[in-house]
This record gives sequence, C-alpha cells and structure tokens, in this order.
Amino acid sequence: MRNWLGSAAFFAVVFCSTSMVVRACDARLEVPTQTASGALLRGVTCPNAQINWLEQTTFATDEGLFVVGIGRDVVGAYPLTASIDGQSVQAVVSISPREYRISIVEGVPQRTVTPSEDELIRIRRESAMVAEAKAMVVTVDHWQQPAIEPASGRISGVYGSQRVYNGTPGNPHYGLDIAAPTGTPVVAPLGGVVVLAEDDLFYSGGTIIVAHGAGLFSSFLHLSSVDVEVGQVLERGAPLGKIGSTGRATGPHLDWRMNWRNQRVDTQWLLQSGWPNTASQFIDAQQTN
Ligand SMILES: [Zn+2]
Repeated sequence: MRNWLGSAAFFAVVFCSTSMVVRACDARLEVPTQTASGALLRGVTCPNAQINWLEQTTFATDEGLFVVGIGRDVVGAYPLTASIDGQSVQAVVSISPREYRISIVEGVPQRTVTPSEDELIRIRRESAMVAEAKAMVVTVDHWQQPAIEPASGRISGVYGSQRVYNGTPGNPHYGLDIAAPTGTPVVAPLGGVVVLAEDDLFYSGGTIIVAHGAGLFSSFLHLSSVDVEVGQVLERGAPLGKIGSTGRATGPHLDWRMNWRNQRVDTQWLLQSGWPNTASQFIDAQQTN
C-alpha cells in the first residue's frame, strides 16, 4: 500500500511538470504568414497539438512539426490554430493569388470529353473509389522527407492551368506533367503506403495513390504499368510503375498530383522548396521561398 501511494505521488509530480511544459509551450506557433495559393505550409508548434486550417484538422508530431496545404483558388487571410489542453494560439496566414495559364489540349479521345451515360456511371463509381482511398488514415511520417522527382523527362504541363479539351472547357489541371517515352520508370518521390493501385480508370488510366502521412497524398496518373499493390509500404525512390498514355492523355507522360486533405497543392513547389527535416530548417527554408 505504501508503495502504491509512493507511485501515485511520483506520478502526480510527473504530471505537474508535464503540464508546466505544455503551458510554457502553448504560445509557440511558427508558420509562414505570407504565402501563395497551391503551397504546402510547414510549421512548428507544441508537440501533438491539434491544428485547424481551412476547416480541416491535423496533429503536430512528437517534435511539434506539422504540414497543411492550400488549394488552387484559396486567396485571402485565414486563421491557423494550434490547440492543446484547452489552450490555443493562432496565426493569420495571408495567401496571394497566382496567375494560371490557359492550356489548350487537342486530340484527347472525344469520349473522355463528352462521356456517355454508361461512362458517367463508371466515372462516378471511380471517383468514389478515389475519395475513399484519400480518406484513409495512415500513421507513417514520410511527409517529412525531402521530395525527389518521380520521373525524369520534359515538363509538359503545370499546376493550376485552365484546361480546354478538344474545344470544351474542363477542370483545371492540378498535376505536374512529365513527358517521357512509354515504359520510363516512375518512382516514389516520398515514401508512403499505397492506398490505390488501378490499371484502368476512365480519366486517369493506370493510377496509383500513395499516402505520405499527415493527410498528404500523391497521385500518379496515365501509367502503362502499375507495379505496386494496395497496402504496400514504400521507401522514397521505390519503383511504382511505368509512364504511359492511358486514360485522357494525348501522349506518354506522368501526371503527378498531391493533396493535403481536400486541398490540391502544387507538386512543383514541393520539389523546388525541398523538404527539410529539422524544426529550424523547416522555418528557414520556408522563409527563403
Ligand atoms: Zn496532366
């Protein structure tokens, strides 16, 4: 009994000092406050704090690192809140607009521009499948790595451009297109868990989705060969498949997209900004961009 009391007292002391650490930390929130649409924002706050951003929620790591994304058309000033133990701290992030190109695409199969009733049913089924894959929660922390290029080739399309397919305006383009011959290897730009691996989706053909953790996902489209399976854990640089022109494409290329929860972000920005590992590097690198 005495031992038990002793442990309880010890426990209380530990608990008090822990909550003091939390109080000492709760004013900490380092995140860039000037950025642009399509960016990924990296920041540092209290370990394990809950982050609220654009009506989405994420959690900081044990070291207090976190990442959030900004979609193509998000412009203006938005609050980012970090909360733990009933305390919260807020930063206001100012997001500048970007100019997006208009991109004319001629020669895609006409059925991918004006799908039939049956094809619309297929499209809806497949988009539900993709949404389900992107709702998967994984515990990996590969998102903290610096990204590498998933394939080498010519940049033939960029994030954000307004697409006009065979004369008909379509959705904006969210990916980075890398043109290279069919069969060119595609590797994982960041490690992660495969959450979707399909040989033939209507718009995107051979398609792989990889979860990098913290709500960050990469999609790889138009592949001629899908060489991974759902559930497989990949290190950065691991082979995923091969470049192709399956789905709505006019020639062989990889379309690499990324989203943080419901925000589609610019993968080219990620490649250019690098992806440092330590907290201080996080902030330094962000401020030079
Ligand atoms: Zn594309």
